[in-house]
Amino acid sequence: MSNFFEQVNILFDKAAARLNHPKGLLTQIKAVNSVYHMTFPLKRDDGTIEVIHAYRAEHSHHKSPTKGGIRYTESVGEDEVKALAALMTYKCAIVDVPFGGAKGGVKINKRNYSESEIERITRRMTFELIRKNFIGPGVDVPAPDYATGAKEMAWMFDTYNTISSDLDAIACVTGKPVPLGGVRGREEATGLGVYFGTREACSHADDMTRLGLECGIEGKTFVVQGLGNVGYHSAKFFCEAGAVLVGVAEYEGAISKEDGIDLETLVAYRKETGSIMDFPGATNLPDRLDALYLPCDILIPAALEAQIHKDNVDQVKAKIVAEAANGPLTAAANDRLFERGVLIIPDMYLNAGGVTVSYFEWLKNLSHVRFGRMSNRTDAQAKTEILKTVETLTGKTIDSETFKRIATGADEHALVRSGLEETMIFAYNEIREITNHHGPDVDLRTAAFISAINKVAVSYLSMGIFP
Ligand code: NAD
Repeated sequence: MSNFFEQVNILFDKAAARLNHPKGLLTQIKAVNSVYHMTFPLKRDDGTIEVIHAYRAEHSHHKSPTKGGIRYTESVGEDEVKALAALMTYKCAIVDVPFGGAKGGVKINKRNYSESEIERITRRMTFELIRKNFIGPGVDVPAPDYATGAKEMAWMFDTYNTISSDLDAIACVTGKPVPLGGVRGREEATGLGVYFGTREACSHADDMTRLGLECGIEGKTFVVQGLGNVGYHSAKFFCEAGAVLVGVAEYEGAISKEDGIDLETLVAYRKETGSIMDFPGATNLPDRLDALYLPCDILIPAALEAQIHKDNVDQVKAKIVAEAANGPLTAAANDRLFERGVLIIPDMYLNAGGVTVSYFEWLKNLSHVRFGRMSNRTDAQAKTEILKTVETLTGKTIDSETFKRIATGADEHALVRSGLEETMIFAYNEIREITNHHGPDVDLRTAAFISAINKVAVSYLSMGIFP
C-alpha cells in the first residue's frame, strides 16, 4: 500500500485531471511548503530520559496563518503530518475558511505517560515551535486532534504567552477552554458538523431513493468507530435526531445491539469499568473491526486513518459512510465502495466543523470580544418591539413561553452553531453541484477536491505567480 501522503495525492490527481490548470500550478498546490521534525529530551517521572519525536507540517502558505490539529499517537511521522496538513488545506478551501493547511503531532502513545509528562512534552514542543517560527496568531495556529484537547491547548497558549508580548497571543491556538479565550461550541463542533453534513446529504430525495432509504436522520441505524471527541459528539447528535446506534467500536473492542445502544449509559459504563465490553444487553464482537461490518444505514468511522482498505472493504455493509475521522478509507476502498453505490461523505468536507469553529474562535480572539456581546440586547429589544406591535395589531396575546423564546438575542453559542450549520449546508450543496456538473462517475470526494483545487488555484493566480 502506498503511504498516506501518496494516497491523498492520488485523490488530488484524479480530481485535477478534470481541470485545466497548468501543471506547475497543480504541483505547487500539492507541495508541502515546510516540515519541521523536532527531537527533544523528556525527563520521565522515574528519572530516566527519553527522546521525543514531534512534527509540524505546513502544507500551504497561500493563506496565512496555516491551521491544523496536533495529535499524540505512535503513528505520527513526517508522512502522516504531510498528508493531514494537505487535507487541511483542501478542507479549509471547501468550507471557505481563509487558512492554509497544517498538521502536527508527537509520536507517543499518550496512555503510557503521566499527566505531568504530557504537560512537559506539550510545553517543550511549543518552545521548539516558537524557536522556528512555527506558531503564532498570524503564522500557524494549532488545534486539538487525536488524543489532545482543551488542556493541551491551554498549556500551549500559556507557554507561548509566557514569552510573547503580542497583544493577539491568545489567538496562537484554538480549542482552548472557554475561560481562556475558547469559543462556546468548539468542543462539540466537529461532531456537530458531521451531523449537519450527513443530515444535509440525507435530505436529497433522489440520492436517498437510489440507496433505498427515506430522507432524514430519524430512524436510520448507525455504527460509530471511536467514542472520543468526534465520535462521541457525532453519535450524540445522531441519537438526539432519532437515529439508532447499533454498534460501537473502541480501542478495547466492539459491541452491537440491534434495537439500539443508549449512548450516555454506555459512556457512563465505560467510565466506570474502563471498557465498552460486556455492556448489558449488547453482544461483544470477536474483533474491534467487526463493528465496521455490521449491517446499518450509516457507518461513522471516527478514530484513525486507513481503517477500511482493499482487504476488508467488501465486508462493509453500510449504505452511507460518513467519514468523521481523517482518511478512514484508503483510495482503493473508496473506489470499491463508490462502485458498489455506497454514498461516501468525504472527510475533507464532513469533519470541517472543527476548523470552521476554530476560525470563529480565532476571529473572537483577534477582536477581543465575545460573539453577541454588542448585539445581544438590541436584538432582543427589536424582537420584543415587533412582537408587541403584532399583539397590538392583531389584538391577540402571544403566550409567554413563545414570546420569551422569540424575543431573545443570539448569544455566542447560538451564533457559532448557526455559523457552523450554514457552512456545512452551503459547502455540501456546492460539492454536490460539482458532481451533477461532472457526471455520475464523479463522487463527492473528487468533487470536494475539485472545489478545493479551484479555490486554492484562484489564490495563486491572483498573486500573479502563474499565467
Ligand atoms: P480522540 O482522541 O478524542 O478520540 C479517538 C477515539 O478513538 C478514542 O476514544 C480512542 O480510544 C479510539 N480508538 C483508537 N484506536 C481505535 C481503534 N483501533 N478502534 C476503535 N477506536 C479506536 O480523537 P478525536 O479528536 O475524536 O479524533 C478522531 C479523528 O477525527 C482523527 O482522525 C482526527 O484527525 C479527526 N478529526 C478530529 C477533529 C477534532 O476537532 N478533534 C477535527 C477533524 C478531524
